[in-house]
Amino acid sequence: MLDRTAISGCAAISDCAAAPGHAFNSDNELPAEQTRAWIELSGAALRHNVSLLGSLLPEGCELMPAVKANAYGHGDLLIAEELQEIGIKTFCVACVEEGVKLRKAGIEGTILVLGYTCPGQFPLLLDYGLTQTIVDYPYALSLQDYPASSTRFHVHIAIDTGMHRLGERYEHLEKLRAIFRMDHLQVDGLYTHLCVSDSHSQRDEDYTHGQIRAFYQTVGELKVQNGSFPKLHLLSSYGLLNYPDFCEDYVRTGIALYGMLSTKKDTEDCPLSLRPVLSLKARVACVRALSKGESAGYGLAFTSTRPSRIAALSIGYADGLPRSLSNGSSHVLINGRKAPVIGRICMDQTLVDVTEIPDVNAGSVAVIIGRSGNLEITACDLAEWTGTIANEILSRLGERLHRILLEPCRPKRQF
Ligand SMILES: *Cc1c(COP(=O)(O)O)cnc(C)c1O
Repeated sequence: MLDRTAISGCAAISDCAAAPGHAFNSDNELPAEQTRAWIELSGAALRHNVSLLGSLLPEGCELMPAVKANAYGHGDLLIAEELQEIGIKTFCVACVEEGVKLRKAGIEGTILVLGYTCPGQFPLLLDYGLTQTIVDYPYALSLQDYPASSTRFHVHIAIDTGMHRLGERYEHLEKLRAIFRMDHLQVDGLYTHLCVSDSHSQRDEDYTHGQIRAFYQTVGELKVQNGSFPKLHLLSSYGLLNYPDFCEDYVRTGIALYGMLSTKKDTEDCPLSLRPVLSLKARVACVRALSKGESAGYGLAFTSTRPSRIAALSIGYADGLPRSLSNGSSHVLINGRKAPVIGRICMDQTLVDVTEIPDVNAGSVAVIIGRSGNLEITACDLAEWTGTIANEILSRLGERLHRILLEPCRPKRQF
């Protein structure tokens, strides 16, 4: 539970002593920063964002952090453990495997699976105490009829109010009532998802208010029959910022918790001083001189127009660095200076031009996302350069990257 009082009164957030970093390395004990490419997480930034977002919630409303997709690429165990330490008791994930992974690492409280779970995996929901989304009426029937269920499945019913992705349609009151009557289901929540809550156009604001009306209308109809009523939630990050009157019991925050909105413009326009949690760094493997007219990389896509020094970075598109950032369309930061990406980004390596940057050697650190000196590159920058949103850039950061939590609330056990 993380309501407003919990946040403002939470000693854990404000009094966290600086503690040594904690690395999550699946199969070695090396500090992450001694590896070829790694992610640094700022525990202080995460706690800052949690209390900032928490301060927007009315009494009794809790944050339900979205830690799906490896916590948007950040590292789900590091993020969820830190959130648990500071009092978060409800999480949402995309799939059952993500929920199982959190449980095995000791994450308690409610874990809501937002997406579809195959019937073959229904026993995992019971074994690991996960809460499943009802994606529509036939899906509720398949859970209800699952042979082995002597105990009840905990579920939240998704209500489709206009996104038309998951959820039983809000108009189908009889089907929704029937789900409430299913004796193998324990309905703990009802929720909907807004599909244009990020937009300020008249059309989209009207559409969002229509979705909100539809949700409350259906909730009202269902309430007549049921005495004790399940939890309600309809807002994600943009919803919280743009429609804060509809917080209800939970707000499902993802991208804002990680310190940004989906685009650079939205992040700049956002009145909250969110702080990015993640930095992405890679080692320089080697540096070499090219004479004027020499080419480099696959397809000889780069040709030097002057005597140059180029560095090979130990990170590539298999780590989640989009290949479309090739050929001078992007840069990284080394020693507080911009190093343009040259040639084609490879699966495991990337070439950058360091002709104008002194003191670049094997072992130097390149910042792909984060700060170096006075310069900063954000996930929103990478998103803008590649024509996507920060959510995609972050969530595709690879398993091969090592992840370390700096400034944790308190020293953690090793995984
Ligand atoms: C991913 C997701 C969220 C979190 O969205 P953000 O925009 O990152 O805050 C909330 N609700 C649902 C249903 C989601 O799939």
